[in-house]
Amino acid sequence: MHVVVDISGDASFHLCTDTPEDLVHIPPSDDDHQRISNIFNNAWKHPKPFPKIHNIFYVAHHSADALAHISRFSNYSFLWLNSNKVGNTQLLFHGTPRTCLIGTTASPAHTRLCERLDCSLCLILRESYDIEKAKSARMFGTGIYSTNVSSKADLYASPRRLMGRATLKSVILNHVVLGRTQLMLSADQSLQHAPDIYNSVTGATSSEGGALAYHEAVVYREDAMCASAVIFYE
Ligand SMILES: [Zn+2]
Ligand SMILES: [Zn+2]
Repeated sequence: MHVVVDISGDASFHLCTDTPEDLVHIPPSDDDHQRISNIFNNAWKHPKPFPKIHNIFYVAHHSADALAHISRFSNYSFLWLNSNKVGNTQLLFHGTPRTCLIGTTASPAHTRLCERLDCSLCLILRESYDIEKAKSARMFGTGIYSTNVSSKADLYASPRRLMGRATLKSVILNHVVLGRTQLMLSADQSLQHAPDIYNSVTGATSSEGGALAYHEAVVYREDAMCASAVIFYE
């Protein structure tokens, strides 16, 4: 069995007859393909060449760990903390490099996660987001970063040359439970969790009086984020 969480946040279950694929191709004729393309294209804000989308897939969650993660994500998004439902779930992009050819085409050869330890896309899709692996000196400390600006996520989806040729880049579109988010006017690299009474932080952009050129949000628990779709583009 696998579960897909579509961009509306609805989970659908699928009984697999043969070896399950890790990515479920969304054909261009599908409404969701158009919706996801529009979200991605409208969120491209940087003055750099406009991307061309090649393939879009839903993430098929089917390992025991992945299914348990969906259940924790669902519980968390409906949890009540400080007399507030955490909620405030948003569709945000996360860019990460990959070192395999997954997503290159819709054929079964390109819809299975690789086993490489340096392929962070496949690691995230297999094991979900990992706070431990996110440990690096970023602006708002030890958390999982995402953005509503696709061209910003693109900065982290660094193009890799595989076997001598440039490959498509990829970003993940996620449901991110921001809950009550604290607007941060400046960096705080020491953050290990959201400030008291908050569930996440959002970096203020310069027009909001902050330090960022483009939106960035950070959650500090892995059950606050669930990968929905992956967009492959050049
Ligand atoms: Zn299936
Ligand atoms: Zn991979």
